[in-house]
Amino acid sequence: MTANDKKRHRVFATSRIGDPAENRLRERGCELEVFQGPEAPPKSLIVEKAKSGVDALITTLRDKIDAEVFEAGKGTLKVVAQIAVGFDNINRADANKYKIPFTNTADVLTEATAEFGFFMIGMLARKMYASEKLVREQKWPSWHPFLPFLGDEVTGKTIAIIGTGRIGLALIKKCSGFDMNILCYDPAYQNHEYVAAIQETMDLRHARGIQKDKTWIKYVDVDDALGGADYVSIHVPLLLDTETDKPTYHFINEKTLKMMKPTAYLINTSRGPVVDEKALAKALKEGWIAGAALDVFEKEPLPPDSPLLDPEIADRCRLFHHFASGAKITRLDVDPNKGMAGRTAQAVIDVLEGNYGGDPTKMPYVVNKEAFKS
Ligand code: NAD
Repeated sequence: MTANDKKRHRVFATSRIGDPAENRLRERGCELEVFQGPEAPPKSLIVEKAKSGVDALITTLRDKIDAEVFEAGKGTLKVVAQIAVGFDNINRADANKYKIPFTNTADVLTEATAEFGFFMIGMLARKMYASEKLVREQKWPSWHPFLPFLGDEVTGKTIAIIGTGRIGLALIKKCSGFDMNILCYDPAYQNHEYVAAIQETMDLRHARGIQKDKTWIKYVDVDDALGGADYVSIHVPLLLDTETDKPTYHFINEKTLKMMKPTAYLINTSRGPVVDEKALAKALKEGWIAGAALDVFEKEPLPPDSPLLDPEIADRCRLFHHFASGAKITRLDVDPNKGMAGRTAQAVIDVLEGNYGGDPTKMPYVVNKEAFKS
């Protein structure tokens, strides 16, 4: 039997995922309907599509997928494929109740997100935005040893990595190349083997004269991580107190900001609600910390009345449009081992074509495997 002889599966995508991955689904015989956006469709449309009997939904982090959607798709909806690694918009308990597998795009975006996080550190600390503005606005009077401003070095400084999962570990690798000391904090998962390997490479680089000073990496508790770092970079999932005893919602708040050094910088590429933005704006205004760079926000797009847009803190607050994974191959490549779009399409194909013996627990991109274990 060829792909064309198979039953045509109906797929509704709440966003375009690019020609190569969309074409792959069509080549596999899917009847693909795509909401053209660029904004997200209203939830009522997703519910309507689920009710109309689509076999698969392709979703983004903008879509709230919960019992209402699963109920609408009862009996026909077979998979929800999310084009992102984070899935805090999908109610896992509801998906499990309805026994609908949902998938994500872990791994393929790890290096791209980590490298963007690293560039955010540099941009913030070395004041690259202010420097370019000076040149563009013709406000650069002459070269001077310290006027109109200086930045802070990254090389040789100490970074705290909050959350040592995929992206946290990838950033550790990049920071070690910049001769940084590294504090690791993760209450749920500690990769001591990786940390030991990084320490070995640090020691080798020092022994062979590649880096002048010795550097180190270690796991510490949260107080030492926040209090000991020049840079604090966040790589945790968004978890509410209803989901875990170690929630990450507002992990960065007045109390934790006050634990950081007044010279330290905060970088967040994880999820917006992990940072209490009101507290952060206050911290930046009152000089509790030196600066912050954010790629994600409590509300996206960032509303015009956000305290983070206060011109008084503009020199120490860098803002990006949830862009850390936004590189061409990472977002669009049709190869499931390279691109988020390719991985999303493959996740749909795995479920609809019954790959892996039709067993979601064996499908590599299914997140909620627990719902299918007997
Ligand atoms: P991951 O699951 O591999 O790692 C997350 C780590 O956080 C885990 O090791 C977990 O144990 C740890 N953790 C959980 N609760 C914690 C807590 N209370 N304190 C400290 N650590 C805790 O996830 P990942 O693939 O590395 O992704 C990390 C985050 O990055 C996710 O929130 C994801 O949504 C976000 N992300 C953002 C972008 C972007 O474009 N800005 C791109 C990709 C991923």
